Amino acid sequence: MKTVLIGLGQAGGKLTAALQSFDERMGFGAVLGAVGVNTAKADLKQLPFETVLIGQDRVNGHGVGGDNELGAEVMQADKTEVLSALDGRVTAEAESIFIVAGLGGGSGSGGAPVLAKELQRIYNIPVYVLGILPGEDEGAMYQVNAGRSLKTVARESDAVLLVDNDAFRSSGESMSEGFDAINEAIARRVGLLLASGEATEGVGESVVDSSEVINTLRAGGIAALGYASAEAAPKAEENINAVMSIVRRAVLTGTSLPDASNADSALVVVAGKPDSIPRKGVERARRWVEEETGSLQVRGGDFPLESNRLASLVLMGGVERSDRVESFMERAREAIDEAKNETREDPSEMWQNDKIDDLI
Ligand code: GDP
Repeated sequence: MKTVLIGLGQAGGKLTAALQSFDERMGFGAVLGAVGVNTAKADLKQLPFETVLIGQDRVNGHGVGGDNELGAEVMQADKTEVLSALDGRVTAEAESIFIVAGLGGGSGSGGAPVLAKELQRIYNIPVYVLGILPGEDEGAMYQVNAGRSLKTVARESDAVLLVDNDAFRSSGESMSEGFDAINEAIARRVGLLLASGEATEGVGESVVDSSEVINTLRAGGIAALGYASAEAAPKAEENINAVMSIVRRAVLTGTSLPDASNADSALVVVAGKPDSIPRKGVERARRWVEEETGSLQVRGGDFPLESNRLASLVLMGGVERSDRVESFMERAREAIDEAKNETREDPSEMWQNDKIDDLI
């Protein structure tokens, strides 16, 4: 799926850079272009693509300090500058736009829903958000921001592909030490998904097409992406169990949003040398995904790739009723209650205006 990336905020910019670099290294050509947008000048400096500094009149290049309401206001005021940076990048080839943002911060969290709404109005290709959920041990502000932002981006975009930082964290590492590794892991998964519909070799009936990604996400709401890989034997019939096992692992332990296997739709992609992909294994794995997710809309396809390994990607759409999202929203609600108690004398309008409960 040919796509244009917009990295909003610090996390969004860094993850966009990782995605673009993965796509380039692999020679996929699925990423048509990238733009970085932030209220903090320093965070834009390191990005290897065009950047737009917004909100200069409000925060003078110093960022919004985790205030996602200010992040939203600033995006609303300066959206024209962001749109002109996109001009010429969203070509006729583009099949989607991805806004990439950390939902727990200020600029990305507040800006993403505003920009998604605007882009949807202008372009007639899907506008997706690749959203990052804060880890469980990040403070209350991050949880609250992410809860509010998630609810709004789910409404304003065509779908939110959700990534939980905790899903990629290695033990013993602090969150910030681990960010580069987390970004690499996410870039590999999302990068492969984008490239899977771009396969040029071995094009046959079983090869996955970009439209299947779009159809899997068509119902909107929240989506999750699972991934796992294993060594491949040379002959397809020797890989039946391996395919079954990587698809199960992708859903059960390798997903971007743990405990989110209750889905409305799914797409099962098996990547590897065409001769090593067993039809029987793919069919069996697809039936297993139907049972596991409870979805009757499970699509499937191959991604021919020169590799000695087999990999599986499982994209699950409509996971908002899953345990993981529910427990996250519960955490965000608790953080709002705590914040209310702390500021009882002067409850900020932010909490009063917000009804976090109506997402799910
Ligand atoms: P913003 O610049 O105001 O949009 O705020 P940030 O992008 O720093 O958002 C903060 C949230 O993003 C927190 O939940 C962080 O844990 C997370 N975050 C910050 N940097 C990264 C990163 O490089 N990768 C990932 N995966 N998450 C990050």
